[in-house]
Amino acid sequence: MPGRGYLGVMPDCLFCKIVAGEIPSTKVYEDEHSYAFRDLNPQAPTHVLIVTRDHFSDVADLGGDAAASARLLAGIRGLARQEGLTDFRTVLNTGAGVGQSVFHVHAHVLAGRPMGWPPG
Ligand code: 5GP
Ligand code: ZN
Repeated sequence: MPGRGYLGVMPDCLFCKIVAGEIPSTKVYEDEHSYAFRDLNPQAPTHVLIVTRDHFSDVADLGGDAAASARLLAGIRGLARQEGLTDFRTVLNTGAGVGQSVFHVHAHVLAGRPMGWPPG
């Protein structure tokens, strides 16, 4: 399997297909490098997934590309500003053992309700 910064659509990757518009999603925000859409199974009044347009499998993979990492953070900033979010939680699950189920890096951006700490 191609690893870091695979440019283009990774076959059989759900989020590559969403970015490509092959699978429908409810777009919330986009920029040149990131695409954000509503989670199908929201865990908060606002639950948006923001993904890199290029395929990285997880945050460990993305972390090998400092510029791409920064671009995803900039996307989160852009999303939060656009949606008027001042208090929000950003979650990047890495590995099936902590609940990652789609292996295309994505940040959950959650807001609109009180949130406990530590997370469950
Ligand atoms: P993970 O468990 O990998 O951190 O997060 C994957 C997220 O993707 C889950 O919260 C799940 O609800 C969401 N999800 C899975 N399939 C789809 C889909 O087809 N469309 C949308 N919008 N969200 C999805
Ligand atoms: Zn992908």
